[in-house]
Formats: sequence, structure tokens, C-alpha cells
Amino acid sequence: MITMHATSVIGEARVLAGLDQGRLDRQRHTWTHGDAPQLTRADYTKLSEAVGLRGRGGAAFPVALKLADLPAKRIEAVVVNGSESEPVSRKDRLLLTLAPHLVLDGATGLARALGAPHLLIAVHDATAAMSLREALMERNDGLAIEVRDTPARFVAGEARAVLSALEGGPAVPPGRRVLPTRKGYHRRPTFLSNVETFAQLAVLARLGAKGFSSTGLISEPGTQLLTIGGAVQRPGVIETPTGVPLDTVLQFAGAEPGPVLLGGYHGRWLARTDGLTLQRPEVSAGIILALGTDTCPLGEVHRVTQWLSSQSAGQCGPCVFGLASLVDDFDRLVKGDPSGWHDAHRHLGLIPGRGACAHPDGSARFLASALEVFAADVQRHFAGGCGRPVHGVLEVPGE
Ligand code: SF4
Repeated sequence: MITMHATSVIGEARVLAGLDQGRLDRQRHTWTHGDAPQLTRADYTKLSEAVGLRGRGGAAFPVALKLADLPAKRIEAVVVNGSESEPVSRKDRLLLTLAPHLVLDGATGLARALGAPHLLIAVHDATAAMSLREALMERNDGLAIEVRDTPARFVAGEARAVLSALEGGPAVPPGRRVLPTRKGYHRRPTFLSNVETFAQLAVLARLGAKGFSSTGLISEPGTQLLTIGGAVQRPGVIETPTGVPLDTVLQFAGAEPGPVLLGGYHGRWLARTDGLTLQRPEVSAGIILALGTDTCPLGEVHRVTQWLSSQSAGQCGPCVFGLASLVDDFDRLVKGDPSGWHDAHRHLGLIPGRGACAHPDGSARFLASALEVFAADVQRHFAGGCGRPVHGVLEVPGE
């Protein structure tokens, strides 16, 4: 289990600056980061474009493009998506809990620049929500700011599900695919992004494009937050320059040798990590899980598949029935029945691209890469089993 306060830094601390001493109240926040500059919409667009800033949720959409897609006037809301529904991710709740003012600086600065009358922060972690509310009592931004609780389900973190929940509806993605920049909160133009994106915007506003670009990749400079867990000695949240080698992060966290899952339960398995650098969009929401070699990989994958299937919002057939079939396929596969392997391949070919949200596609990516990377383990199961118990290295909510 990853503890909330396990933070570390490779290189320069930016969004995690000052957190080695614990939560930053308003005064310590200002000592650490300095005052927040007032920027215009054109400033935010120019800065985001200059550093190629991408959203720090799963989709990695360029921030400058999102800003450009908004109309010139009548922007209804800025929404901070703090639902962090990937079960292993900790970075966003950590920021909301320990550095709430940095997130608020980014969100309020942008809301003011866009002339948005509403700033909504969607969060399901009680400690993070309490920290935010305390932070709001320490500042006067002259804006209508609301902290709203959202459900903890996996698909409840999808942008359109968050908007639906904020409007009092069910926290599931609606059937239609509409961009929040066109039809967002109350079907009006909305800028919605993930918690870390707003913290990075606050850092960018202070450092400017040149200062921000002094570390990381040329194509997307700066730092990134990663959550590392599984078979590691030092689990937690790490700030690194963008483009850091994956092996450096694994070594830093004391990871056991073995396969690695990159990008969480919608990500992909890697048999080898050498030569791989961590950058968006591949790093997705920044989750790295080391599996180690003591546990049965197929049994671990089966546990996650059951959970992924339970998280379907139940409105698209290929998702509901497809994921349930895959649970059954992997159950037979773990028991050494070759029909499970054949059926899993067949179902994985049928599911992608047919749901109203990315859940079936992401789940299929996770499972297809598992079949590839654990091919030798599949053969062992056909021959009677791999001889390893399932230790539950992969965290599954509710277990
Ligand atoms: S694809 Fe699945 S999770 Fe997504 S909206 Fe449809 S049923 Fe819900």
C-alpha cells in the first residue's frame, strides 16, 4: 500500500517543492513558491504552447489546443478533475492534500483569465477535500469556488462522467462523445483538466517558458509526477524531469526485477525496461507498477480483470458482455485450459472502439499486452501451472 506522504524527487523539486516538511499552508506556500502572477488568457495559451504542456490525466491532450478550442467569451466553468479513479494512482490526492494552494493558484489564475464564473473541484478523497476546504478559508480569490465529492468508481473519473456528476446526474460517461470545451458544465464551454495540470500551470506562470524549460525533454520540458508501487522497497509519488529513463525510476524506488506495468490498469505490460524513457502520452497518468517474480502473473491479471469488469458503467454491450467474457477466459487460462487463451484473443479483437468511453479499449490494451508479455507463463499453465501463488501485488480496491 502506498502511503500518502511518501514523496521523493529525482532532479529539481517543482510541484513537490517544500513538501518534505509536510503540508504547505498559505504562508509556507508563498515562502516556497512566491506570489502568483496575474496572467491573461493569451499569456496562458502562449506559455502552454511554448513548453508543449499536456494534460496530466490519462489522455495527455495539449493544454494550448484545449484553450484554443474554447470560444472567445462566455466560458462557464473551470473544472479541476481530482477524482483520480485509477486505483493505484496517488499523485493528485497527494497534491490536493499537501500542496492545495499550488493547485488553487493554477485553477483560479486560469478561471480569472478566461472570465469563467465557476470554479469546481471534483474530488472523492475525504482528506484531500478537507485540505482544499481549509486552504480556501486562507485565501480570497473573489471567485465562486466549490469543492464537490464524486464517486470512487473507475469510469467516474472520465471527464464527461465528472461533468455529469457535478450537474447532479449519474457519474457515468454519456453515450455521446462531446468535448467539454464546447458542451461542458451545464452544456456550456468549460475548461476541464486534471489536478497536476493546474499545479504545473501555476509553476509555469511563475517560471515563464524559459525557466520551465530548464529541465526535461525539449519536446515537452518540465517535470512530471509518477506513482510507483507493487514490488518496490520505496513506493510513493516521485517528481522527475520529463523523459527520465524508466530504469532510473525503478532503481530509485528499489524495484524487484521482473515485468513492469506502465500507465495503470489501462496501460501496458513491459517485459524489458532498458532504453525506455518516460514521456507522455505513453506514461499516461504516470503509474508504474513492478510485479516482481514471486507471484503468478496470470493470476494477478485475472484479479484485475474481474475488477475492471465490475467497473463497467453497464450501458454499452461490448463493454458489459466483452469484459465479463474476458474474466471467464482468463479464469480458464489460469486453470490451464487452452480454450481460455483462444477465446481471450477472439474477444480482445472484438471489444476496442465500441464503447462510449475508453474503458473497454484501455482494458483490452492491458490484457492484450499481458498475453504477449506472459506468453511463457501461459505455456507453464497449460503444462500444469507456474507453481507460484497469487500474492496480490497489484492493488485492487475492496480486496
Ligand atoms: S464503454 Fe463501458 S464504461 Fe464506458 S460508457 Fe460504455 S458501458 Fe460505461
